[in-house]
Amino acid sequence: MTEASRHHVRPATHGQANETAMSEPSATLRNPSETFMSDLNRRRAVVIGSGFGGLAAAARLQAAGLDVTILEKREKIGGRAYQLVDEGYVFDMGPSLITAPHVLDSIFRAGGRRLTDYVDLMPLDPYYRVHFHDGTSIDYVGDPERMKEQMARFDPRDAARYDRFMEKVRPIFDAVVGDRLGSKPFDTVRSMLRFLPRVARMLAWQPVTTFVNRWFRDFRHRFIYSFHPLFVGGNPFTTPSVYLMIPFLEREGGVWFARGGMYSVIEGLGRFFVELGGTIRTGEEVREIVVEDGRTTGVRTDTGFHPADVVVSNADPGHTYGTLVDGAHRRRWTDAKLARTDWSMSCFLLYLGTRRQYPQLAHHTLVLSERYKDLLKDIFDRKILPDDFSMYVHAPTRTDSSMAPPGCESMYVLVPVANQASGLDWAEIGDAFADRIMTFLEAWGLEDLREQTEVRHVFTPADFETELNATLGNAFAIEPKVTQTAWFRPHNRSEDVRGLYLVGAGTHPGAGVPGVIMSAEATYGCIAEDLGLPDQWDWGEKGRVDLEAGATVEKLETAPAAETEPARSTRVPADIAAPQRSGLDPASSERPLPQRRRYASRLTFLRVESEDIERTFP
Ligand SMILES: Cc1cc2nc3c(=O)[nH]c(=O)nc-3n(C[C@H](O)[C@H](O)[C@H](O)COP(=O)(O)OP(=O)(O)OC[C@H]3O[C@@H](n4cnc5c(N)ncnc54)[C@H](O)[C@@H]3O)c2cc1C
Repeated sequence: MTEASRHHVRPATHGQANETAMSEPSATLRNPSETFMSDLNRRRAVVIGSGFGGLAAAARLQAAGLDVTILEKREKIGGRAYQLVDEGYVFDMGPSLITAPHVLDSIFRAGGRRLTDYVDLMPLDPYYRVHFHDGTSIDYVGDPERMKEQMARFDPRDAARYDRFMEKVRPIFDAVVGDRLGSKPFDTVRSMLRFLPRVARMLAWQPVTTFVNRWFRDFRHRFIYSFHPLFVGGNPFTTPSVYLMIPFLEREGGVWFARGGMYSVIEGLGRFFVELGGTIRTGEEVREIVVEDGRTTGVRTDTGFHPADVVVSNADPGHTYGTLVDGAHRRRWTDAKLARTDWSMSCFLLYLGTRRQYPQLAHHTLVLSERYKDLLKDIFDRKILPDDFSMYVHAPTRTDSSMAPPGCESMYVLVPVANQASGLDWAEIGDAFADRIMTFLEAWGLEDLREQTEVRHVFTPADFETELNATLGNAFAIEPKVTQTAWFRPHNRSEDVRGLYLVGAGTHPGAGVPGVIMSAEATYGCIAEDLGLPDQWDWGEKGRVDLEAGATVEKLETAPAAETEPARSTRVPADIAAPQRSGLDPASSERPLPQRRRYASRLTFLRVESEDIERTFP
């Protein structure tokens, strides 16, 4: 393995690559597990993949005294939280908001540091601005009084029920986050059975929409308190209400953005891990998890065999079991069982750098179709590309001007779409779909969007499959539904191979940044039990961390929603509806483009060598 393949961290501040390379292991770092190090210094762990979950598990193990190496297939760390930089526009390619910062903080605490030593978090207000098909909108905020005030405009009875609704949700939050059920492994039937009476009492087994619809009558309120499972790849009409803890989590802990982009959190984690003494090798794909007599002995990559006492896979379980572990060693996660698994929906992502700003966009804006349940049926069940779409627009420049050149906007548009079981050929339809989204956004109110766009990239379900080894191009691993929750998910401690552990969105508790970080704690708990490592539980004061004091907030202009409402119907005009239900007519998108605009029809890869970025487009 060459020295050049070692990863260097490049925090992106003010749109520029920061030249700081990862430092050598710091002798001054306080390691709370020092006493265990002499016993364990021969124990080696390999972590496959460097998403939030992989990085968190690696840092915990390194902090406990193991010798940990992360092997990452791609050219940079981050996984679904990758970063794209083009012409001074900085794009977070996946997660765009932070909830439950105390969960992130717990990783750093395990190594004697704090999240705020590495990342500057900025609180968001509103959390999201939600635009409905009829031109109305709601600023979704944490302050209960402001929420009730807005809800009263549409239905005063709903507003009157808000407090009681939140009190009904509180026990779910207390169980999953407060009592750490999200960060304990559910790997025995007994652990599941013990939890069931509590689930029944909280009605947490009911679909989210069933729970919410009992409390609210107005369609807007029904939406804003039920849509959160979509953040973790679940259909609110089938996902159990245990996921209602997300709106509660947001209200309690706030919604945050990291200065310089979400990728600065990835870089902070990477730097922290290397300072603890860990090694990251990028551009190194694991081809096989080697198993002898039912126990893993290490992994094989193109450069050779990497022996390990512990292997932690952050790759999707479909890839971990289906590709990396030979079928002869799998009794539970057989090919047949993997084929029966429901993989989450995917996303179509459009990254746009525009020469002008659009203050009518909040930092997070949802633009919704008239259809809710039926649109989700198209995505989750029928697996077709419908005529209409709902979308989520991330405009980080609203909060952090360093994300784009002066006066410009970097934004991404996320449209939930079916996974690759749809059979859609994204190489053929991707560009036309991107054009359709831009035409829609122009009609909706982003004037001259096409004319003003100078950087454009897309990331499609096909890219999820090839870039991230995501089964069927899923965006959120295994779909969270009752039959695929807790014990029913692939366990944090492999059921099939001793010494193999899973971490990340595909294991317990599931997707989302807080979820995968809790999964790292659950996985660490299993390894700690097996190897006799110390407990690392430390979420401060019952899971609270006061970040407000340290946060610095830039005040950039966001136009109030009310001022721009009349132009904002989200109905899809007939001329930009999809020409067919299961695909697009590429010819419909042919139009001349202005000279300065640079297009990449699809993102192929970003290669990072030391501090330089080279982009390659087809
Ligand atoms: C578009 C989008 C927006 C999102 N927005 C939010 C948000 O705002 N807030 C939030 O909390 N969550 C959000 N999520 C969810 C969250 O980002 C993910 O659940 C989480 O980042 C997944 O992390 P992970 O640890 O499971 O690993 P992943 O990020 O999936 O990383 C797995 C890594 O393993 C690597 N790998 C795979 N196979 C191999 C191999 N054979 N050898 C070596 N390496 C391999 C991959 O390259 C990848 O780097 C979003 C997700 C998406 C897709």
